[in-house]
Amino acid sequence: MTTPPHPLVDRARRLAAEVLAPQAERVDQEGVPMSSIEAVKRSGLLGLSAPVEYGGSGAPAAVARETAEILAGACCSTWFVQTQHNTPLATLAGSRLPVRERLLGPLARGELLSGVAYAYLRAHPRVSVRVGRERGGLRFDGRIPWYTGWGLNDVMLIAGLTEDDEVVLAFTEAREQPGVRPSPPLRLAALGAARTVSLELDGLWLPEEALVQRTPYETWAATDRPKTVNTPPAVFGVAEAALTLLDEDRAEPLRARLAEVRRRAYALADHPVPHEHLRERLALRTKAYELLQAATTAAVVSGGGRAMTLANRAQRLAREGLFLLVQGQTAESRRAHLEALTSPAR
Ligand SMILES: Cc1cc2nc3c(=O)[nH]c(=O)nc-3n(C[C@H](O)[C@H](O)[C@H](O)COP(=O)(O)OP(=O)(O)OC[C@H]3O[C@@H](n4cnc5c(N)ncnc54)[C@H](O)[C@@H]3O)c2cc1C
Repeated sequence: MTTPPHPLVDRARRLAAEVLAPQAERVDQEGVPMSSIEAVKRSGLLGLSAPVEYGGSGAPAAVARETAEILAGACCSTWFVQTQHNTPLATLAGSRLPVRERLLGPLARGELLSGVAYAYLRAHPRVSVRVGRERGGLRFDGRIPWYTGWGLNDVMLIAGLTEDDEVVLAFTEAREQPGVRPSPPLRLAALGAARTVSLELDGLWLPEEALVQRTPYETWAATDRPKTVNTPPAVFGVAEAALTLLDEDRAEPLRARLAEVRRRAYALADHPVPHEHLRERLALRTKAYELLQAATTAAVVSGGGRAMTLANRAQRLAREGLFLLVQGQTAESRRAHLEALTSPAR
């Protein structure tokens, strides 16, 4: 007897089949439309991991991974916009500050979509956004190199580093305001549709009530590091979408290898000690990238010349695959990946 899929997995499949996949090539060229964001908000998927008492679903990590695979495989740009919501949600759920009561419910119920700007913290100590105290609140200065979902999301969680080497995370509205100057949307080889901009912060002032977390850098980094060594589920989602463009017998060997890497990567993701087995986690991530590239390349080869037209699915998936190679990259994951790519034993 097989167990029926979790209702949120069902909802993700419906959203993917009815809204995301049918227009993915057009969205890739024209940008994620507000109608897709409204559909994501209505789906209940934004609150998937959020506490039930705030209107979320408190679903297990395995459900979060499966829905991410489904959405990323259907339209990587839309998935990427919606997945930004997860860090703000988790940060709010872990906070005891007043902003939790103001925002956790609206984010958990999908009434508000949040973006996040924090990857630059990983370049510590040369963090490009600095934060200090001013007029009883917080003052942010510097440059956010990447911010996804501009014009689509309602609020944003931004990070900065204090003089005392503390990470400060605070919420503000995701719009142009005094002290925030957005670039035009960045022209990118992939995921240009996700409306990524860079933001110049020049004395952005936020009240103390905007603060969601203040933590010594080392404490923040210790919980962040495991997130960048596990394999992102989107890799398996995009790889599977590429395999569906191949004949069954061609797809089967790659699908079997992906399934094995996925099984091992997810077993480690569920391991109770997130900072153990780091080398093995990174090795699996690298292996998954290799299979992703094999799958998307096979889809292009199978499509022939037509695969180069912008309306063709194979080239979109291949470009999205390239993006996934650098998303969430750290010096450590880059080193591991480059070593695997250039190893003489290959
Ligand atoms: C299309 C797109 C959209 C994105 N959207 C977002 C977003 O919405 N929010 C967000 O937070 N991020 C976003 N990112 C950032 C993304 O996660 C980063 O690309 C990824 O983390 C790699 O960082 P990088 O290329 O900016 O950094 P790089 O400068 O290439 O650095 C990569 C890593 O090298 C190390 N490093 C670099 N410089 C130094 C230094 N001076 N000292 C010590 N170590 C260093 C760090 O470990 C760093 O993480 C986006 C990226 C892309 C391509």
